[in-house]
Amino acid sequence: MPAPEELLHSVFGFPEFRPGQAEIVAAVTAGKNTLAIMPTGGGKSLCFQLPALCREGVTVVISPLIALMRDQVRALREAGVEAGALTSGNTEEETEAVFQALDDGRLRLLYMAPERLSASGTQVLLKRIGVSLLAVDEAHCVSQWGHDFRPDYLRIGELRRALGVPLAAFTATADEETRAEIVTRLFDGAQPETFLRGFDRPNIHLAFAVKDQPRRQILSFAAARKGQSGIVYCATRAKTEGLAAALREAGLAAVHYHGGMEADDRRLVEGQFQREDGLIVVATVAFGMGIDKPDIRWVAHADLPKSIEAYYQEIGRAGRDGAPAETLTLYGPEDIRLRRAQVDEGLAPAERKAADHARLNALLGLAEAVRCRRQVLLGYFGEAAEPCGACDFCDSPPEIVDATEAVRKALSAILRTGESFGAGHLTDVLTGTTTEKVRGRRHDELPTFGVGRDISKGEWAAIFRQMMGRDLVRPDPERHGALRMTEAARPVLRGEETVAFRRDTVRAKSRTVVKALVAEEDAPLLSALKAKRRALAEAARVPAYVIFTDRTLIEMAERRPETLDQMAGITGVGAKKLDSYGAMFLEVITGETAARIHPARRKLAGRDAGTLYDRLLEAHGRLTRGGDGTEKPLSCSASLIAKVAELRPRDGAGLTRLLGEARAERFAEAFLEVLADE
Ligand code: ADP
Ligand code: ZN
Repeated sequence: MPAPEELLHSVFGFPEFRPGQAEIVAAVTAGKNTLAIMPTGGGKSLCFQLPALCREGVTVVISPLIALMRDQVRALREAGVEAGALTSGNTEEETEAVFQALDDGRLRLLYMAPERLSASGTQVLLKRIGVSLLAVDEAHCVSQWGHDFRPDYLRIGELRRALGVPLAAFTATADEETRAEIVTRLFDGAQPETFLRGFDRPNIHLAFAVKDQPRRQILSFAAARKGQSGIVYCATRAKTEGLAAALREAGLAAVHYHGGMEADDRRLVEGQFQREDGLIVVATVAFGMGIDKPDIRWVAHADLPKSIEAYYQEIGRAGRDGAPAETLTLYGPEDIRLRRAQVDEGLAPAERKAADHARLNALLGLAEAVRCRRQVLLGYFGEAAEPCGACDFCDSPPEIVDATEAVRKALSAILRTGESFGAGHLTDVLTGTTTEKVRGRRHDELPTFGVGRDISKGEWAAIFRQMMGRDLVRPDPERHGALRMTEAARPVLRGEETVAFRRDTVRAKSRTVVKALVAEEDAPLLSALKAKRRALAEAARVPAYVIFTDRTLIEMAERRPETLDQMAGITGVGAKKLDSYGAMFLEVITGETAARIHPARRKLAGRDAGTLYDRLLEAHGRLTRGGDGTEKPLSCSASLIAKVAELRPRDGAGLTRLLGEARAERFAEAFLEVLADE
């Protein structure tokens, strides 16, 4: 049997293992019972796919989602691996082909839906075909406490005993409870060899923003990433529909998705998202488990998620391919009230509620972080880390101020008004604003009246929000969200503890510069490569990433292989794919370089006007559909741009003479800027 390293290169086209993979592959290949906990996108599939190829016999893969299985099977076939699936989604021919391959002894990986395990005859079938390894994806589905519980998963342990083969279980869910349950149910309580991979996803940029104009915030975040696949999570079904419509109105490709939709419609959206490049799905958390798209470039939360685990899982859907991905989570006092109320109004026992509040607190602590967000997030999972350089805090650290005095004033106002009022009224009291309510309750006679005049109302809003975020105060669900002091606030009130807050972030500029996936000079080639991929994917009716992932195309655009040998060195280009697609993509790369040199440009080669031409062309490219990308297409010919580069008109009039009125209106300003830079 071939060595894993060798297959890693030849079949999967990866130069090396990701952290943690090598050990897991070794253990699974050696036939040990294993439990591997890896973050989403860590590369779990490889950890059973490679051993399957290194071992004799068939590896049975149990996975909860049909769509996901089908995609993995397609991807494996693309890589030249004999794989098949038995699911209720199969056509008769597909099933037929799977059995044929089994009978011929060709099949290496057999994917199976858990429902199949309860069918009579399944065990007999699996015994007959010589199964040598069981792999269980999303193993946390055996946990009755988790929200992904699949009753059929409970049969897996029995199957393992009946077949007497090793079992490898994989999950991204980390908590102790779930882990223990997996060991009990899948391994009869005998501790398997366990691998726990770090939780860091360094390619995912983390950012939070206080809700200001939430719709506008989401729209501009999405518009800045036009053409990239993304998910917007919303707290309610109605909101998904409204926001998706708003995005479409802004000229973006967006659809909504929630649990209230017909199953068929949901399936449609899932399929479309999986296949297409650059679709935005605006969804409730119902959109998730079925999504195995490695090239999701961004995830935005229009509302605060319910816990730090939920947050981590949801943002974790971005950037599985390892290429840069962006996230943005919006939150505000209303979100905190909503999430608290959901916990309080739930039917869970008291200790569960306390745990849920704690999970929410952890997320709020992250939202109001006073240091690197990744440090806070990983800290929650028990990992130490250096400041990451890839979160909004590291990008531009907010001012951190000692808020102890202000917090004590606020607490005192809360206590003196009988813990019966919300932030609005309390702010009026603190700032000495005599409203009717203040006068009516005679709160203008309190000693705290007006003690916070030196702080603006906006700043008080931020302080109250952060006090809620730190769980120093909680909205009282029985009293319309009146704020109550918590135990955690006592040491602050007594002067035993200090509090540091962020100087408010509401008005802080959000990042408008979008980091490009590749350097400017590689961008045209990258889009040409993507176009090629799209064409091939459409022809083969598979998702684009099944051909090549973004990561692979980015590497092609950057390294520009000129021969098939060099092409083989690109991450993600295995032997089979090199054979199927290598030449076609090579043509894009080499042909592209040749075609890009327009005769008009060639004449300028080696002269200053040459680089000037390039910069004009670049500015031109940005404006062909107007500054906001929505106007009628209008462009200048290459020779016209060459003329501008040679003659270098100094002012608008000179440019207009060259370009004509219409083009001057569109391009003159940008061209003059380029020319002035010379
Ligand atoms: P998950 O852990 O979420 O199941 P996947 O198995 O889907 O992750 O892998 C995520 C992505 O990482 C896939 O696109 C896969 O091809 C890629 N990948 C896995 N292992 C490697 C590796 N050693 N080198 C490069 N890319 C890899
Ligand atoms: Zn950071």
